[in-house]
Amino acid sequence: MNANYVILCIDDEETILDSLSMELSGCFAGVELELVQDNAEAEELARELIAEGLEIPVVVCDYIMPGRKGDEVLAAIHAIVPKARTVMLTGQSSLEGVTKAINRANLYRYIAKPWDRDDLILTLRGALESYVQEATIQRQNAELKELNEGLERKVVERTAELQAANAELAEANRTITQYLDIIDQHVLICRIDKAGTITYASEAFCRRSGFERSELIGHSYWYTLYFNLSESRIQEIMTTLERGETWQGEIRHQSKDGEYYWVHEIVSPDLADESLILGFTSIRQDITDKKAVEELSITDALTGLYNRRHFNSVLERELGRARLANQWLAFAIFDVDHFKPYNDNYGHAAGDEVLKRIGQLLNERYRRGRDYVFRIGGEEFAVLITVRHPAEAEEAAANLVSAIADLKLPHGHTPVAPYITISLGLRLISPEEESATVDQIFIEADSRLYRAKESGRNRYVR
Ligand code: GH3
Ligand code: MG
Ligand code: MG
Repeated sequence: MNANYVILCIDDEETILDSLSMELSGCFAGVELELVQDNAEAEELARELIAEGLEIPVVVCDYIMPGRKGDEVLAAIHAIVPKARTVMLTGQSSLEGVTKAINRANLYRYIAKPWDRDDLILTLRGALESYVQEATIQRQNAELKELNEGLERKVVERTAELQAANAELAEANRTITQYLDIIDQHVLICRIDKAGTITYASEAFCRRSGFERSELIGHSYWYTLYFNLSESRIQEIMTTLERGETWQGEIRHQSKDGEYYWVHEIVSPDLADESLILGFTSIRQDITDKKAVEELSITDALTGLYNRRHFNSVLERELGRARLANQWLAFAIFDVDHFKPYNDNYGHAAGDEVLKRIGQLLNERYRRGRDYVFRIGGEEFAVLITVRHPAEAEEAAANLVSAIADLKLPHGHTPVAPYITISLGLRLISPEEESATVDQIFIEADSRLYRAKESGRNRYVR
């Protein structure tokens, strides 16, 4: 039992108090007895006990006393310790006093004097237990209430946190939606599933290709959008993608209404992991304008030499001029030997470097006013120079072939030499020659180039 419990006994007769003390002591372990004879002191004592941190679970009070009656005293004590169980001892049955005590002091029991000891002890024990139980329930209720309030506070806090997080998410979503809109409007982008069926096409993509979205989504990417491309080109792209690699290159597409447009296209596989391809994404950049500029240009972008387009007009003009000036012209076309295996083994970029190096050499060697050098095709070049006589032309041709070999650009995949070589066809044009056209001269130079290839390469044929 709680060591802070005190049972307060009030009776005007000392003998009663003595016998209460005797009978009760030892019955309630750890509970003290306080005896008050003068009931006028009862309230003050109760207040003192409370102030000392003690509790008064039970008050036992006589009924007939000088001054105040028991019901009044109990009512006063009840006002100070409302939870205390009140027990009244009455000499003669006084129903009125009991009723008052029930009403004003929440009377727990009354016990008739002379009391039966067992009854008294049982009654007080019951009162004490009832007090303890109520206190326990109250404490538990208070704990529950606190727990509940704590939970409610947590719920409020978490709700606020969730709302804040939701607001952030909504904001992020708005930003993403904005970006997606911008991409949709301005980037040519298309998504394709593994079977080649279009699953998404941006607005910009639809505009450029001339198709409605509904004409693209669910349709074959290759058949719908690559209809003007050769089977081998498509195959090249597919093979790269199937290896899980990205393909990119310049492609001339045709829109739905037949208009040509150039794009730089990047097609990359969407990989679930290193080997599982889910589909593909194509991103295109419209380069139609750049191509148009290139077509107007007379120089080749890689080497800076004159290109094929300019070649015809120069040859035409020079033929007429040389005839009038009574001069010999030497026209040569040459082609890099076994260049395909070079590309295949060293890569396209290394191949480009070789072509640039050859372009440089041509520019360095032919710098006179009437010298012209061209790149007329992939790895084919042409030279047009004015000579004084045929022997000078032959010497120039032989020198050019050996000058390229002397660059000693390593090439381990040709049976001709351990480095890059060329084969050259030479066509001399005499000032007397009236009838030869540009086309004829070209064809004849080309067939001599072919003979140079046939007869072993790394040489010229006139
Ligand atoms: P040949 O001695 O009979 O001329 O053999 P070849 O391998 O040179 O002839 P072929 O015509 O089979 O191959 C020409 C190769 O030139 C194919 C292509 O890869 C390469 N080529 C054409 N244009 C370019 C270019 O601009 N850059 C690079 N790197 N390679 C090119
Ligand atoms: Mg060739
Ligand atoms: Mg070649």
